[in-house]
Amino acid sequence: MNEMIGHKFKSYDHRPPKSVEKFRDESGYLVIPSLQIYAADHCTQRCQFCTTSSPHRRAHQGDVDGFIKYINRMYDQGVKFDTINILGGEPFLHKNLADFNRRLRAGMTYRARFLITSNGFWLGEMDEYPSGLEAGDGITFSRYSDVIHDLGGLDRYNSLVEKLKRTRPEEISTNDAFHFREWHFTEEPRFGYPLDCELADNVSLTDTGEVHRCCVAPASRFSPRVTKAFLDRVDELEYRIDREEQGIELRDWLKSPLPDACAYCTAHAETPYYPLRSLSVIGDQIPFTDGQNKDMLVSGFAPPEAPGVWTVGPEAVISFPKLPQGRTRSPNLTFLFAATPHLSPVVPEMNVTIEIPGTTWKDRWVMPPRHPQQFFGNTTLYTLFVPNEIAQSVSPLQLKFSIDRPHSPLEAGASPDSRPLGFFLQYVIVEI
Ligand code: SF4
Ligand code: SF4
Repeated sequence: MNEMIGHKFKSYDHRPPKSVEKFRDESGYLVIPSLQIYAADHCTQRCQFCTTSSPHRRAHQGDVDGFIKYINRMYDQGVKFDTINILGGEPFLHKNLADFNRRLRAGMTYRARFLITSNGFWLGEMDEYPSGLEAGDGITFSRYSDVIHDLGGLDRYNSLVEKLKRTRPEEISTNDAFHFREWHFTEEPRFGYPLDCELADNVSLTDTGEVHRCCVAPASRFSPRVTKAFLDRVDELEYRIDREEQGIELRDWLKSPLPDACAYCTAHAETPYYPLRSLSVIGDQIPFTDGQNKDMLVSGFAPPEAPGVWTVGPEAVISFPKLPQGRTRSPNLTFLFAATPHLSPVVPEMNVTIEIPGTTWKDRWVMPPRHPQQFFGNTTLYTLFVPNEIAQSVSPLQLKFSIDRPHSPLEAGASPDSRPLGFFLQYVIVEI
């Protein structure tokens, strides 16, 4: 272990993760039970606590040639997998999954089992085993309560699966995804937890050659809940096959203890499970473009402009007359604000305190965010978690923003505009 890696793993050198015990050494190869690859990053569903952050990702079609290249490169480096798991997002959103599957099998230099996992959203549209997937070793339907509901209930869902099973009984199975871990990233390390993580068995590969220890790591940049502390360390969970000076062999890296980054992620065994809940969105997004929803802007906002609305002055208040309802045991309502601060050499950073009038709840944003990767498109999403009991204790729920240093473009020497601007708001997403 070189000095750099030794430093990275210094906290946990004494405690190898259990997951490594599941790896085998055979004929000179490190054999790992499964490799996850993503045929599509996006999904039909919006499950809260999705480990691949699919609800927050843009549509992306996996490049099969990239996967073939890097699976074979891993084999050349002494690493192979029993099963290649073709996942997403939702893999059936790939425009030609059958072709993807066929080419992957033909292109790999060794034989592995292939398993596609789907949420089955397409079950009602297809009477037969999906054409072209004959070469697949199996499909597992993860049963999500939302998909079951959309397809007409559990009995109908099961009957649709049974119909497919009649043609290929050995190749189709189901598992239940009714409960999700309520996991988070943290700003402070969580030392002292048992250093094992079942997700760490799910080595994942991108089509551009990054190997990750788990599915959470590559998706973390898309998570609106990611913290700076985790992002600062996420490269500890990533191995770039093309990088010449990686400092450690791939097989040794895969066997090494989980890195310090894991102390900032709670997606491990002790995190509680809750029933699946979807991210519920009021009006999909609540846009403030072209004057939309201007009735929610109670005070402290300039007249709306086509792309959104500015706060003006030290305080601004937004009112939410309608909050999402749903079957949830989430402790929080989550607000995602697509906002851009007015910054200049005069005011290079601003603090915004957020309060709910009539309650003691308070939060704070630093603008720009301390974790600049937290982008959604070109816009930064600023997050607020409001405990449900607080949100329900006032009606309508209002958020009051106190901006520490609003200043004008005139003051900044940028334009004659003398309005003391705070941040520019495009839309808000409210999730339960
Ligand atoms: S169905 Fe699976 S991939 Fe899609 S959002 Fe839900 S957990 Fe994520
Ligand atoms: S603790 Fe989090 S980051 Fe670490 S391996 Fe598990 S899921 Fe990945």
